Formats: sequence, C-alpha cells, structure tokens
Amino acid sequence: MQKIAGIHHITAMVNDAQRTIDFYAGVLGLRLVKKTINFDRPEVYHLYFGNGSGDPGTVITFFPWAKQPKGRIGTGQVGSISFVIPAGSTEFWKNRLQKFGVKFFSSVRFDEKHIAFQDPDGLELELVEREEEFSHSGSFGGIPSDKAVQGFSGAMLISVQPHKTAEALENILGFECLGQEEGFLRFKSEASVGNTVDIKLTPSVRGLMGAGTVHHIAWRARDEEELHKWRAVLEERNFYPTEIRDRHYFKALYFHEGGGILFEIATDPLGFAVDEPIEKLGQKLMLPSWLESKRQELEKTLPPVEVRVLEGDQK
Ligand code: ZN
Repeated sequence: MQKIAGIHHITAMVNDAQRTIDFYAGVLGLRLVKKTINFDRPEVYHLYFGNGSGDPGTVITFFPWAKQPKGRIGTGQVGSISFVIPAGSTEFWKNRLQKFGVKFFSSVRFDEKHIAFQDPDGLELELVEREEEFSHSGSFGGIPSDKAVQGFSGAMLISVQPHKTAEALENILGFECLGQEEGFLRFKSEASVGNTVDIKLTPSVRGLMGAGTVHHIAWRARDEEELHKWRAVLEERNFYPTEIRDRHYFKALYFHEGGGILFEIATDPLGFAVDEPIEKLGQKLMLPSWLESKRQELEKTLPPVEVRVLEGDQK
C-alpha cells in the first residue's frame, strides 16, 4: 500500500497581505519563500511561508483578500495548525508572543505541551516542542536560529463525520492510528516533519469558509508518478479527485474526504527554487509565463508589501 509522507502545505484565507507578512515572518520568523498570485484569481496574492528553502512539511500559504467576509472555524475544516519549535524553547516563545501582544494559553494533547494562540485573522495556531531536528528558516529579527520554528508538527482536523475522516487517513492515505485520548484521535506518518494529524471527536459548530479559516490541507506525493497512482486509488474508492493540475512549484490534485475537508495531494518536486535562486526567494513578484505580459497591470493592482523586522525587535 502506498503511504502519504506527511503534510505538504496548508493554505488559509486572510484579509490583509502586509499584516500576514508581519505576523508569520515578523513575529514567527518564517521565511517568505514565494510571492506570487492566485493562479485562478490573479488580482489576489498567493504568499508562501516556510523554512529557508520552503521544504514540503514547512509551508503555510495565504490568499489575502480585503473584501473577503470573515469565516468560522468548524466542521469540514482544519481546526488548528501546529508548528515544531526546538526542545527547550517554550519560554522563549511565550516571552516573544507576549512582547508582540499575542494572547496565548497552554494546552496538552497526547502528553505534548502546546502554546495555543491565534493569528490576526483568527486562525488557530500552536507551537510544540519536539526532539527531532529539522532545517529551519535561520535567524530573523529577535529569533536566534536555535529557537526558530522548524515546520509543521501537524494539524487538527474538525470533521463532519470523524470516523469517515479517520478511515480516509488510515485506509486510503496510509497514516498509522496511534489511539484516542481526551476527545482526539491521533494519526502519524513516517515523515520527519508535518507528520501528526489529530481528529477532534467532540461536537463542533459547522465551519464557514472565509477569512481566518483554512482552505485546504495538502499531503505529500514523492513525485508525479506517485501522484498518478494516488489519483487512480481515489477514483477507484469514489473520492472523485480533480484532474492533476500544474501549480508551477508542484503538481497537485484535490478531493473532498468523507468528513467534508478539502484535501490536496501535491508533489515534492519541483520546489520553490524553480524560478528564482534560493537566496532571493520571496523578494520579487513571481508570475507564471501566461501572466508575465500583465505584470505591470498586476503590480499596480496588488498592494505593495515587504518583509520587515518589527518595531519590537529593533534595537
Ligand atoms: Zn494547495
């Protein structure tokens, strides 16, 4: 049986591009690894943040659109997104969140202590210490590299039908079920990052798409050949996957699992260095070739944004 390696990326909707950059780069220290546009709606940015090279398992992406109504986190969605911080760095992160006025609380799931907080649009985020080391984005602002976020630890899913989501994770995607504890069912994959998925078993409100909610979660396929195999498996099991789409940085397909959550499967290659050098990732607005002729027009429509060290980090 083919198995999913882990989380590839998670994509969410927010209202403001600069505010999102200030939070994910400025406060959390992730690297803006790609500044491009929504290929289906070129007047909207698509911003990708990750570790230094934007490796699969570290990438959170956003569609910032000011006019988008606020959504509601609930069933049929990813409920929270967790990031790995190095062992021993919890106090550092609590102090840092406090310094930037981010309210947080501590919670425990499966014996792991999480620092839980929200981004400016209301997305639920967590930081959790893990022992395994993974490449990070390096030092930025007030974050030394030995405290830097390393990528996803995992995600918590809120399903319309938790047992159906569990079945898809275990019997289709090949996650291993680690058991149930205090209203959550935990699954794990073999990846070194982005490898844990929890399903919430207690009742939740119905989710509404909009700003402050996750649009979809993407899982990793090693290459295009494997993606084609996934497509065949999903068709056979009546998940009605989309055709394979060219997302320039990876190939991808989409389907709804039985609990209402939009899943994507995306290939590890080509990666974000396909159209600009690693050292310059995220600086220039990158456009697919078919939109290059509209660059001037698009650059006028999109609000100017920048990665900047926040005031609280300036000496
Ligand atoms: Zn995606």
